[in-house]
Formats: sequence, C-alpha cells, structure tokens
Amino acid sequence: MPDLPADTSEWSLHFLGVGNAAAPELGSASVVLERDGQPLLMVDCGQEALSACLARYEQPPPAVFITHVHLDHVAGFERLFVSNYFSGKEGQRTRLYVPAMLVPLLQGRIADYPNVVAEGSANFWDAFQLIPVSRGFWHAGHWFDVFPVRHHVPGTAYGLCLRGAFFYSGDTRPIPEVVAQYADGTMPLVHDCDLHGNPSHTGLPDLLREYPAEIIRQMLVYHYASVADGAALAAAGLRVAKAGDRVALPKPLAAAEAHAASAGAI
Ligand SMILES: [Zn+2]
Repeated sequence: MPDLPADTSEWSLHFLGVGNAAAPELGSASVVLERDGQPLLMVDCGQEALSACLARYEQPPPAVFITHVHLDHVAGFERLFVSNYFSGKEGQRTRLYVPAMLVPLLQGRIADYPNVVAEGSANFWDAFQLIPVSRGFWHAGHWFDVFPVRHHVPGTAYGLCLRGAFFYSGDTRPIPEVVAQYADGTMPLVHDCDLHGNPSHTGLPDLLREYPAEIIRQMLVYHYASVADGAALAAAGLRVAKAGDRVALPKPLAAAEAHAASAGAI
C-alpha cells in the first residue's frame, strides 16, 4: 500500500458555548471542529450555539453531530430548517449525524409539528441529510467514534472521539471506563464538569474521585453554571474552557488506523 501524504492541516476546536442549561450567558454547550480555520463539524446545536456559529463563520454549520436531545442541544434546528429551506439554493441541506437510538426522540422534539411550513408542501427533514449512526461515522475522510455516556435514561446520550485529536464527553456523569479506552496522553479530553455534581452531570468532587490525576491533567472541562464556577474550577487546578476559546489540536490518526482501533475496541 502506498504511503499516504502527511496531514498538513491545522486542526482546532472552537468552543461556541460552555454553559449548562441554566446559564445561557455562557452559551449553550457546543464546539466546532475546524480544519485550517474552516468549520468541519459542529457538536450540538442549541439556540445560543447556533447564534455563535453564525456570528463566527457567517454561514450555517456544514454538518452537525447530536449528543442528546435536551433543548439546550437541539433548539437551534428550527432556525437551521428555515435557513436551509428558504435559502433559495436547490437542495441545500445540513448533514446531520444522530445516534440511532435518538432518532425517535429527535423526531418528537423538533420535527413532529403539523406543517413545518404554513402553506404545506414541506417536510422537516427536507432541509437535512439525516444519517443515523451506531458505533461511529465517516465524515470528511475521517472516522469518528461514538459511545454511550451517563446522562439521564441509559441509551439517550452519547459522546464523540476523533482519535488522536480530541475526545468530547457530552453531558455526562463520570465515565472513567470509557475515557480509558480513548485517552492517548496527548489529545484533550473535553469533559462535562461543574463545581457541584448532580444525577445528570459531573461535579468537581466526582471528577477528582473517579479519574486518575494523569487523566485529569489531560482534561479540558466545560458545562458549568457561571463565570464564578468556572473560575473556581480553574482555581482547583483544572483546565477550563471558555466560550469563544479556540484550542489547537494534535493531528487525528489516519482514518484507516482510527477505524481499525475502533473495531478493536468493540
Ligand atoms: Zn443534557
């Protein structure tokens, strides 16, 4: 097999928002994976996240992955429908990767409304290319792993990993057994964390109890309640993401290698 050309792209992760559902001033939790400064994949699409995305890139996201269907993660879809459907561009659709178990829930949350357009003749999904996913998906020549996390009813929330580049927990309680499968000592482990935990989310004491110090050093935490809580997490020694941050990433593994690693992990 001939050697593949080296990846000369610059990869980064842009934090559109880092707040929890009660902290819209911190933005709805969401990131955009960028390659050479261009948006490649948005993770989640809350109202504030979509606004931040449009302000930053002056265009809708080219593709979105959904971690779960709480409204602070999916409430931007009605606007995305309108912007695509009335764009005047034939066939303009946003590629949408959705864990298969979430498709019925997403249908109920955003698409099950009689007549998405008042005059009829349109279906909600006309404006999207819906791709249900299980263990992962191919996007832009790369393999992305998808895994279940611990957020509300089992099977209703998922995380994402582009091996070598970044791990993203989504909303979750601690998942040390999952993180251990992906951590490579280099890539940032983006993880839910607030000062205080609850049955839905990770708190600082949970994080310190459940993860080894070496793993915590690789973490970049988000999804907190206030600027003050973010400062308190930083004072405790954590690396804390802020809305608007752009974090340079290591290069992802080559797609074939990432896909093989994924198959080996099952
Ligand atoms: Zn949630």
